[in-house]
Amino acid sequence: MRYSDEILNEVRENNDIVEVISQYVHLKRSGRNYFGLCPFHNEKSPSFSVSPDKQIFHCFGCGVGGNVITFMTKIEGIGFKEAVENLAERANIVLPTLNNAEDSKKEERKAKVYKVNSFTADYYHKRLYRPESKEGQDYVKQRKLTNETLESYNLGFSGNYDELYKVLRKEGFQDDEILESGLVKKNENGTYVDFYRNRFMIPILDVRNRVIAFGGRVLEDAKRFKYLNSPENIVYSKGKHLFGLNVAKKYEHHKLLVVEGYMDAISLHQRGIRNVVAALGTALTTNQGWLLRKNAEQVILGFDADGAGQTAIMRAMEVMQNMGCDMRVLQMTGAKDPDEYIIKYGSARFQKLMDEAISLLEFKVKVLEQKLNLEVAGDKVKFLNEIAKLIAQIDNSIEREIYIEKLAKGYNISKEAIFRASK
Ligand SMILES: [Zn+2]
Repeated sequence: MRYSDEILNEVRENNDIVEVISQYVHLKRSGRNYFGLCPFHNEKSPSFSVSPDKQIFHCFGCGVGGNVITFMTKIEGIGFKEAVENLAERANIVLPTLNNAEDSKKEERKAKVYKVNSFTADYYHKRLYRPESKEGQDYVKQRKLTNETLESYNLGFSGNYDELYKVLRKEGFQDDEILESGLVKKNENGTYVDFYRNRFMIPILDVRNRVIAFGGRVLEDAKRFKYLNSPENIVYSKGKHLFGLNVAKKYEHHKLLVVEGYMDAISLHQRGIRNVVAALGTALTTNQGWLLRKNAEQVILGFDADGAGQTAIMRAMEVMQNMGCDMRVLQMTGAKDPDEYIIKYGSARFQKLMDEAISLLEFKVKVLEQKLNLEVAGDKVKFLNEIAKLIAQIDNSIEREIYIEKLAKGYNISKEAIFRASK
C-alpha cells in the first residue's frame, strides 16, 4: 500500500524545504540558494545546498540529494512512509488510512498504552494530595515545590502492592494493555504487582504532550539508585526524548539549557529558568542532539560539576559538533548541580551563569589546563601546541583573533607565539 501522487504532492507543497532543513542545519542565503554544513558527512566549509525554487537539496561533497521527503528519511533514519507521515503532521495534513493491518494494529496498541499512561499520571497526581501520601508531601515540602510546579509537571505519588493495577482494571483497562504499558508486572505465580510503589512520580511527556514513560524517585535516602525509570515499551525508547521539552517549548526557547536530572529541570523551572530540559541519563544520544538542534539555536550544557558530568560534556560535544548549533558549557562553582546552585545563589545569578556560559573551545582549553602543569616549561609548550591546534580549527578569522587575544591574556602567553603555532 502506498500514498497517491496527489497526496505526496500536497505533502511536498506544504513543507517548504528551506524551512524543514533549517530545523536541522543552519542555512545561509547566497544568491538564489541556501548553503550549510552537510549533516550527512563531516565537513568544515559548507557544500550542502538547498534550492527554494526547485525545492531540492544537494551536497557537492558527498553527492546526497533529493526532495523534502528524501531529506526526512535520511536525517531521521526512517522509512518513506514514516517520513511522509511526519511531514503531513507538520503541515496539518490528514492522511488517508492505508489498509495495512499490521500497522493499524500497532497504532491501536500504542493508543491504548498512551491512555493507560495518561490515566495513571493523573491518578498518581491526585493521590499525592491524599493523606496516605504523607511521604510524598514531605518530599514536596523539602524540595519547596509549589502547587504550580506540581501542576505543570503533573507530579504524583504511587501507592502500594497492586493498587494501580486494581484501579486500572476498575477503570476498564484490560490486562494486556496494562502489562504493555510496563506500569504493572505479572509475577511468576500469576499475581499482578505495580512497577512503581511508594515513589514520587514524574511523568515523562513527548513534544506532543503524550505521557510516554515515568521516572519514580524513592524517598529513602539510603537507596543507592534513587530513580527507577520505565522500561522501554511500544511508545517509549530510551535516548529519543528530552524531559521537559514539552514545557520548555511553551516559553522562549531560542536557547535551551540541558541538565542531568528531572529534579534539576523542575527546580530551575520553578525558579524562573523556563528553557530547561533534562537528558534522562548522562550520555546524550544523537537523537537527543537533533531534538535539541531542532528546537534551539543555542544549547547550554548544564551538567553536574563532578567527573561524570565533565565526561558527559565531552560526549555531548562529540555528538553535537556537526549539527551546526552554538554550544556552550555552564561553569558552576560552589555547588554540585544546578538545583543546588539556584537554591543557594538565586535565579538572577543563575541567569548570569547562563549568559556567561563558555564556548566549547574555552571548555577544551580548561580541560587541557587541568591535565597539565603550566609552571613546567615542557607542559607549557605542550599546552601552546594543543591550543594552537584548537584555534586552527576555527573557520572564521575574526573569531580566531578574538580567541588568540583572550588566551594570550588569560595564560600570559604572547599573541605572536600562539599565532605562529597555529599557522
Ligand atoms: Zn555531504
